Amino acid sequence: MIFLDNASTTKVCTPALEIVRSVSEQLYYNPSALYGEALKVKNLLEVARKDIANILGSDANEIYFTSCATESNNWAFEKGIKNRKGNIVVSSSEHASAYECAILQKSKGIDVRFLSLNKNGTVNEDDLYNKVDENTCFASIIHCSNETGAVNDIAKLSKIIRGINNKVIIHSDGVQAFAKLGFNIKSLGVDMYSMSAHKIGGLKGCGALFIKKGLNLAPFISGGGQERGLRSGTENVAGILSFAEAAKYFKQNYDSGLIKQMRGYLIQELKPLNVIINGTADAESILSVTVPGIKAEILQHMLSDKGVLIGLGSACSSKAKNNRVLSAIGLSPKEIEGSIRISFGLENNMEQIKIAAELIKTDITTLRGNIK
Ligand code: PLP
Repeated sequence: MIFLDNASTTKVCTPALEIVRSVSEQLYYNPSALYGEALKVKNLLEVARKDIANILGSDANEIYFTSCATESNNWAFEKGIKNRKGNIVVSSSEHASAYECAILQKSKGIDVRFLSLNKNGTVNEDDLYNKVDENTCFASIIHCSNETGAVNDIAKLSKIIRGINNKVIIHSDGVQAFAKLGFNIKSLGVDMYSMSAHKIGGLKGCGALFIKKGLNLAPFISGGGQERGLRSGTENVAGILSFAEAAKYFKQNYDSGLIKQMRGYLIQELKPLNVIINGTADAESILSVTVPGIKAEILQHMLSDKGVLIGLGSACSSKAKNNRVLSAIGLSPKEIEGSIRISFGLENNMEQIKIAAELIKTDITTLRGNIK
């Protein structure tokens, strides 16, 4: 199997698997209990928090563990906007877990302003200047698009927003960027940042939200007071420890040069077939390709029969005929129907990519031949 759908999820890495097993068998105690064994578990959670913080460049007490990035995004929107008056500004390339939060705010009567995208998938800066004003209270801009791989220059966009109104709370969805793109959270200028374990070799069902010190965000889940009173619920110890192990392993082993080489090779092989490459030139682990004249769903089936797994836009939205983000970069419904998403991970190598490229080219040619 050649798995090229790593933006949807990833194989759990060995260090993450090992910690899940050992903690589940030997340290299964509730971290809130007061006996020594439980305190050991509590300490391990704090070590995991420090590990995530180290990769992000934040303080450990700015990291809050959640059940997934969808929850992190919901928390950011719900409590970042709560009781604040004014409009909110949201990029048109948000993942459904942020986009639907914006739609919910709209249904409550909030003035939600969606930012248009450039052809390469990034947020249009002129539109940011147009839409942010002295009444903006919240902004959310995805770091790396799960659909196109386009990387937004969050540091620059935050600066523009703060230059217009320095009271805006800025959130960024960093699920496809965390542990991949080299950055320090302080340089991004954001107040909140969402992350997910299963995109980088951790278990599904575990995420985190960075909340900048001093933001005083309201609790998202009330109860026993876990996560310093802001997100109650017995901690997913195995998930959190696997997240930290996976993040360290991913950071150490993610070879940006190799990822770019694999991406570049596929682009070079597919270009002669008159395809459209979506996303920015600095995109790394995600390659979005529009293949005019084919139905991507059929290509996906043909490839999966041969052991090559690719995506069609994000897994969460793959059932939708239209694709909101690809549409926002100007692709027609027909072009969207012919768009595939290839995404790379630690398990991939050039040998696999060469095999996949040949199969993709052959299947595209076959499909085009069948269209009259
Ligand atoms: N944000 C982005 C950019 C994603 O790609 C995803 C997953 O596809 C999510 C959020 C949701 O993450 P989770 O599966 O942890 O809820």
